[in-house]
Amino acid sequence: MATLNTSAVVDKSFDYHVDRFADIEVLRYEVPEFDRLTLQQKKMLYYLSQAAQMGRDIIWDQNGKHNLQIRQLLEKIYTGYNGDRNSDDFKAFEKYLKQVWFGNGIHHHYSTDKFRPEFSQAFFEAEVAAIPDSELPLAPGQSRTEMMEILVPVIFDPAVMAKRVNQDGTQDVVATSATNLYGEGVTQAEVEAFYGAMKDPADQTPVSYGLNAKVVKEDGKLKEEKYHLTGLYGPAIAQIIYWLDMAKSVAENDAQKAYITKLIDFYVTGDLHLFDEYSILWAEDTASDIDFVNGFIESYGDPLGMTGSWESYVNFKNTASSERTEKISSNAQWFEDRSPVDPRFRKDKVKGVSAKVITAAILAGDAFPSTAIGINLPNSNWIRAQHGSKSVTLENITEAYDMASHGNGFNEEFVIDEPTRKLLDDYLYITDMLHTDLHECLGHASGRLLPGVDQDALKEHGSSLEEARADLFALYYVADPKLLELGILDNPEAYKAEYYKYMLNGLMTQLNRIEPGNDIEEAHMRNRQLIAKWVLENGRKKGKGGKDVVELVKRNGKTFVQVNDYPKMRELFGNLLAEIQRIKSEGDYKAGNDLIRKYAVTVDPKLHKEVLDRFSKLDIPPYRGFINPVYTPQYDAAGQITDIVISYPENYPEQMLRLSRDYSPLTK
Ligand code: ZN
Repeated sequence: MATLNTSAVVDKSFDYHVDRFADIEVLRYEVPEFDRLTLQQKKMLYYLSQAAQMGRDIIWDQNGKHNLQIRQLLEKIYTGYNGDRNSDDFKAFEKYLKQVWFGNGIHHHYSTDKFRPEFSQAFFEAEVAAIPDSELPLAPGQSRTEMMEILVPVIFDPAVMAKRVNQDGTQDVVATSATNLYGEGVTQAEVEAFYGAMKDPADQTPVSYGLNAKVVKEDGKLKEEKYHLTGLYGPAIAQIIYWLDMAKSVAENDAQKAYITKLIDFYVTGDLHLFDEYSILWAEDTASDIDFVNGFIESYGDPLGMTGSWESYVNFKNTASSERTEKISSNAQWFEDRSPVDPRFRKDKVKGVSAKVITAAILAGDAFPSTAIGINLPNSNWIRAQHGSKSVTLENITEAYDMASHGNGFNEEFVIDEPTRKLLDDYLYITDMLHTDLHECLGHASGRLLPGVDQDALKEHGSSLEEARADLFALYYVADPKLLELGILDNPEAYKAEYYKYMLNGLMTQLNRIEPGNDIEEAHMRNRQLIAKWVLENGRKKGKGGKDVVELVKRNGKTFVQVNDYPKMRELFGNLLAEIQRIKSEGDYKAGNDLIRKYAVTVDPKLHKEVLDRFSKLDIPPYRGFINPVYTPQYDAAGQITDIVISYPENYPEQMLRLSRDYSPLTK
């Protein structure tokens, strides 16, 4: 097996499986080495976990303006229900509530399509009618009838708020998205003009316009409602500030204190310059053991890719595994100088690409229950260029995924033959983690824009093309002999495991996440299909002996991915990387749009149906997410914390109901 440093001794008795419903499986993750932390570190982690969970209501409200009210109403029905909990209506109701919890609102976390309730409207109305007025989550001045007139169509009419994030560029993506980042009557053209007027093209260090604001229309004019202590989401932000301040009191060093102070100042004022100052201090602190993200960060939830969805990660360093990513990031310039792109688009100096492997301790906001396995922040391009970025791999999360899927029958169903299955068994875990490391540490950090090119020039395709660029950089280098020289891999063939899985996923198995008849919309999925289909098509007859580099073949009536020439595939990844880097560096919207339209969006309905059928026999959930461990302070007689105890006692509804009870500053 490869020379992978896994510090965690895998605990075979740990129960990773928590719940299963609709297209979702809920897992729990273990937090190995928690007990090696000092009391001060445990306290800090506890305070940060409080700050993380206090923001939960924010993401619910950002995702849709009725979400918090609906959550309260559904939970009220769920906990107070006196009828038969095995009846069809109640079972369907419970499934819907579990979906809503998972989506942080009434839309699917990934497809952003609205959930379809399978219980009857009559059941819902009867249950609401049984709740006294005083216990209904009515808005100020709202009557029961008014509430139901709004909520019934929002829940039951498929045409109302159908999609949270509409990416269809032929429509007004602002007006047709159900997200609560824009007010009533605001159009895409108005928002683009509003921020266009704010941006100064000569500004070399622009703030991330719109990152922390809802845009509303007042007297026919647009204005921002900012998220800060005395603005939108103030009550939740006040709690976040309180706990961040507690964390600051036990911070590990002055650098950490300094960036927590800046973050608090940003939350108080909403001033985006302070957020940039915080981001720089945060990116430059690579010494601290405990680390966290807490704020308005990723913009996938905004059809225009500007406003940050609130999220939080709290984590600490996995020292042994971090040696792997430190080797990669300390060689960043070596990789950059040899990347297969036009030298004009390379960075002369790749700055401060720091990378570490972490143990996740709390996931929150947009990162919960569904989470990323790698993060690279800050997102601001000029900060990345001038100050570097911090890149992390969440190894205990990856490990939980891996452990939970053992023996689920996927490889037997979809991998073409026994030698390939063996290859995946031996090398996919390490090469998959390496792919994440390379994507986050090097991929996003590589390359540069030509002078004068707007960083938003690729518009609605910016996210997909950026993910493609980072993936291609990782795919190209996961096959590089340099990784053997660095002692990270021990077999020159190992990369083939990642190549096979990437093509299988991009051409076939990721379609399991798409409803029949739908196109591909989500940025990461578009990126993966773009790469896989491009290589399939551009590798025709280019492999050794004039064969296709990769092809789709039929065996016993089933479709399989067959790779005929792995080295040539690496070359093709390099070619596409060069082209996508050119598109980004030159801001060539047209070429980017052509690539996306040709390869990334449409689905072959026959193959799609086959994939869904084969998956349905396996009962593998397309999506997975996590509940968190519980951290409980122990106190002495004087009320001082003597220890923080970690435990994993809850099932999924128990955790969700506890969060709603203890961490909901916007609904109290
Ligand atoms: Zn990425």
